[in-house]
This record gives sequence, structure tokens and C-alpha cells, in this order.
Amino acid sequence: MWSYQHQHFTVHQFPALNDNYIYLIEAKNSDVLAVVDPADASIVNQACENLGKPLTHILNTHHHWDHTDGNKALKQRWNCMVVGAADDAARIPYIDTQVSEKVFPKLDGLDIQVLDVSGHTLGHIAYVIDDALFCGDALFGAGCGRLFEGSPEQMWQSLQKLAALADTTQVYCAHEYTLPNLRFARNVDADNKELESRIHRDTQARMKKQPTIPSNIALEKATNPFLRPLDDVFMHRYAKAQHIDANALAVFTHLRQSKDRW
Ligand SMILES: [Zn+2]
Repeated sequence: MWSYQHQHFTVHQFPALNDNYIYLIEAKNSDVLAVVDPADASIVNQACENLGKPLTHILNTHHHWDHTDGNKALKQRWNCMVVGAADDAARIPYIDTQVSEKVFPKLDGLDIQVLDVSGHTLGHIAYVIDDALFCGDALFGAGCGRLFEGSPEQMWQSLQKLAALADTTQVYCAHEYTLPNLRFARNVDADNKELESRIHRDTQARMKKQPTIPSNIALEKATNPFLRPLDDVFMHRYAKAQHIDANALAVFTHLRQSKDRW
């Protein structure tokens, strides 16, 4: 477990399954203890026991089983509030509170916003609490989610919302995929010095069995190939090299398709 201090809360990070991360958000000014995407109820139960606090909320980003499998057991044990997207309520097990970009969940002591970041699935949402982003499988370290349900246009819209967050926003995504993602990134963005230093840093971290997550929005904008179309120089260079239209959406779409085949 790793813990990160924010002004109004602490984030506890737990590895789960093969490469998932589960996050517990422990409020400093209230009894709120919320889990984001409980892949495995037993890990969350143990963590709550260790903290000596009951679980108050489940925040689901999307319906995939490796994000919701703990809902049933946790709801039964703690009678916690299950929060998920109104747009995908039918697929979120035991959902109590349906939220959207217009209707935010109310968690005592925390200022929480919801972004629709559909693309990986339809009805995929992200939670933003102060300078912390919980984005599920929308944005990864140096990557983004596969487009199982949404269109490239939708995903590109979603990623631009995340890129517009403050540079210092910490990115708490749901998988440790960073190193393989960085290998693809190097392949398409060879002259990027910030990318080279990230590869060095994150490789060291993984050798020490440390997480590469959280990253932050500034680092993702500088090194994540799926946000790099926002950089005009990169966008034009990539479009020219691949003989595709010189616009950000075309470049994003080409990158996503290349990664799927990579
Ligand atoms: Zn997923």
C-alpha cells in the first residue's frame, strides 16, 4: 500500500488482480471513506479494518468487472453508498446514486466533480476531487483505454477534458500499464526528451516494485502519445510522416489504431 496526502483527504493505493489499482479516499474533515473501483472486496475489507473505519462509498468509473466485482460483497458488509454513471446505471451492480456532469455525488468534506469520459465504454466517468483525478480506464500512464464501445471522436473529446485539468492534478488511473505504454510512446515520439527521462524514472520505479502511478497532467501532456496531438509540432510531424490529415483527431485516431495493432 502507498499513501498520498492531499489537503482535504489521503489517497491509499492498493495493487489488485494482475495490474489493477484500487484507491481508498480517506477524508480528513469527515467520516467519508470511499473506494474507487473495488476490483477485489477482500483487499478493501482488510484496508478498512486496518484504518479502523467503515467504508462509506463506492465510486465506480465504469461497468467492467475488474472495477465493480467488489460492489456486492462491500455493499453487504458496510451498507455503503454505491455511486456510478446515470448513463450506465443498468450495468453498475448495486448502484444507489446516479451521477453525471450535472449531478455530482455529495461526499461530506470533499468537493467532488464528475466528467463524462466515454470512449473505453459508454457511460465511463471520471471523478475529480481538488487536485486528484480518478479516471478508471480513460487515461493511463502514457496511454489511454481501448475503444470498446465509443468512437475515436468521443474518446478524443474525453481526453481533451482531462488534459484541460490543472497541470498539477494527480492522475490516479486504474491499471499499471505505464512501461508497455512507454515502449509504444518511444516508437512514435522518438525525439521527446521528457519521454526519455520518464522511461528512465518509471523503469527504475518498477524495478523497485514501486508504482508509476499517480502521474500528473503536465507529465501526461508532455509524454502520453494520446495527448501529444494537442502539441502542434508533434501533430504536424506525425501527420506528415503517416500521410494523414494534419488535425488532432486524425492523429489521435491513427495513434489509437496503431497501438491496437502494436
Ligand atoms: Zn475497463
